[in-house]
Amino acid sequence: MEIKIAENAGFCFGVMRALNIAKKVRNESDDDVYTFGPLIHNMQAVKKMEEEGIHPIYNFSDINPPAKIIIRSHGVPPQTVEEAEKRGFDVIDATCPFVRRVQKFAMELKNEGYRVIVFGDDEHPEVKGIIGYADGKAETMNLKHTPIFNANEKIGLVSQTTQSVKGFIKAVGYVVERVQEAKIYNTICSATYLRQKSTEDLGKQVEIMIVVGGKMSANTGRLAEISRSQGCETHHIEVSGELKREWFIGKENVGVTAGASTPTWIIEDVIKSIKKII
Ligand code: SF4
Repeated sequence: MEIKIAENAGFCFGVMRALNIAKKVRNESDDDVYTFGPLIHNMQAVKKMEEEGIHPIYNFSDINPPAKIIIRSHGVPPQTVEEAEKRGFDVIDATCPFVRRVQKFAMELKNEGYRVIVFGDDEHPEVKGIIGYADGKAETMNLKHTPIFNANEKIGLVSQTTQSVKGFIKAVGYVVERVQEAKIYNTICSATYLRQKSTEDLGKQVEIMIVVGGKMSANTGRLAEISRSQGCETHHIEVSGELKREWFIGKENVGVTAGASTPTWIIEDVIKSIKKII
């Protein structure tokens, strides 16, 4: 059986940058170091960081200053940073520059009088952060929630960076069919686009696809959806221990792809395990 690896898979620029910032802060500071939420949506990587002294927190009230708090690549609403600083914490911002760009557009659109729409998942932290930059006045658009527009409204549309390009094209079509004035920013990041495209291409070539990455990771989940849409049997796993021998019986080729928050060592371990199984 042949194993084919997606051309673009695994850690993206923004995740690598956030990890490097966190490690640098840990190495250079005597204070306790925390991330506000898990730095990346990968349990195994977060566990490794905890061993190195970088711990996720979910409420500022759980810790006391002095401490360093790292804002993860997804970003947060500006009010969250203000609250942490008011409590006396030293805040280090590791928001990905591509996410920062969406936050800036959302703020500008709101200030220019547009009704701001974020094509994204209601509960995703990146989306909550973007909405915060529009003073909490932006709304989401997704499969569960489709806003109703009046033809004379000014609509400003941005996307969560990890959404699917095809989904965003549909959202754009929905907006322009209904209103006369729309300002649209394509804010899907290039790392996301390349991972989705590579998965789509690979999905056409293989019978079975192993998608590696956190079950909480939105971008990894999207890769699994894209792979399934290509008609190939798809299994989304976090670690090699979840692989099952029966998946590979009778197959001639297998594809491996991974989300932007999946560390290289986990991908390599999965490939090694597949080689042992087949
Ligand atoms: S997926 Fe894109 S936006 Fe998100 S952290 Fe990576 S590079 Fe940044």
